[in-house]
Amino acid sequence: MLKTLRVMLIPNNYQNTRLFQFAGTARFAYNWALEQEKKNYEAGGKFINDYELRKRFTEFKQEADNKWLYTVSNNVCKQAVKDAVDAYKKFFKGLAEHPKYKSRKRSKPSFYVDPIKIKFTETHLKLENIAESKKKNRQSVNWFRLAEHERIPIDAKYSNPRVSYDGFNWFLTVGIEIPDPKPVVSSNDGIGIDLGVKDLAICSTGHVYKNINKTSRVRRLKKKQRRLQRKISLKYEKNKKGGRYQKTRNIIKSEKQLLRLTHRLTDIRTNYIQQTTSEIVKREPSFIVMEDLNVSGMMKNRHLARAVQEQKFAEFYRIMRYKCSWNCVTFITADRFYASSKTCSICGNIKKDLKLSDRTYHCEHCGAVIDRDFNASINLYKYGKSVINH
Ligand SMILES: [Zn+2]
Repeated sequence: MLKTLRVMLIPNNYQNTRLFQFAGTARFAYNWALEQEKKNYEAGGKFINDYELRKRFTEFKQEADNKWLYTVSNNVCKQAVKDAVDAYKKFFKGLAEHPKYKSRKRSKPSFYVDPIKIKFTETHLKLENIAESKKKNRQSVNWFRLAEHERIPIDAKYSNPRVSYDGFNWFLTVGIEIPDPKPVVSSNDGIGIDLGVKDLAICSTGHVYKNINKTSRVRRLKKKQRRLQRKISLKYEKNKKGGRYQKTRNIIKSEKQLLRLTHRLTDIRTNYIQQTTSEIVKREPSFIVMEDLNVSGMMKNRHLARAVQEQKFAEFYRIMRYKCSWNCVTFITADRFYASSKTCSICGNIKKDLKLSDRTYHCEHCGAVIDRDFNASINLYKYGKSVINH
């Protein structure tokens, strides 16, 4: 089973500069490859394959003006060309739109490293060719400090390692092959989980996980974020010259502040989902049931869209599912047309006119009064039970 891990790097000044050089070169090679494909196609040619394009890139590198491309590790460009070819291939087969060029401003700086060439210790990571000189006493700059110790196993089989910059820090993401978990037959009952607007997750066991966006900490940050956004747009208006927006030093500073704030909010929300899903899995249920999140459908409802986005429903579903597979818990997705909210969990009667604003479920048939989301989670649990018993 493949597990993807991410760890933050702590580069020194020299290393930091080199990482940006690597990412810049990768971007250049990607755009170069895309341009070759495009020109070739417009001239009536067919798709150029990866092998051919890499050969041409090597020739291109040897031209007098392009010697600078030799300052970074060879694998960086090789993979960037391959990525461009893959993206173009998808377009060529009609599976995707024409790939976009990576702009300096918009694209996220990142590059690939050869999995065979990286090395981990408990505290450091070695990347290839960060040192520009081959001298022995310069080779220590190839070693990066890691923000978390012993996060990545030493001597594992690594796949597709990528280094990327999120606007503040550099990260390494790497796939690691781990042995499949032994199936354990849990004697515990299953759990149905309903995701909601008021609370994040309501379990059929009665556990409720609150909406983190309603805590004072997140509210304060959100308020700060809104204020900053307003300030920036006002500054843009004020510095408009001849109908065009200008970036001033002050604006750049505030935008950096805003980015930092946005990151913090994202971190808090993601972290909360990680904790919640872990806690649910730790109860060792025999199965977990969730609704098929037709998120795009929910996004059309303006009332729901914001909550879905802020609470990262899709992320919750994705993480819950892989955590189940890691821990050998059966994961069941209830059909999108299964009326988990409208059905009475006690008698099975379906209430057609249930509104989103009805927080309590009143059953006309058996007279049951039950919290709307809790009712849905029990229905999801029952759905799972019927699937298992089939
Ligand atoms: Zn009923």
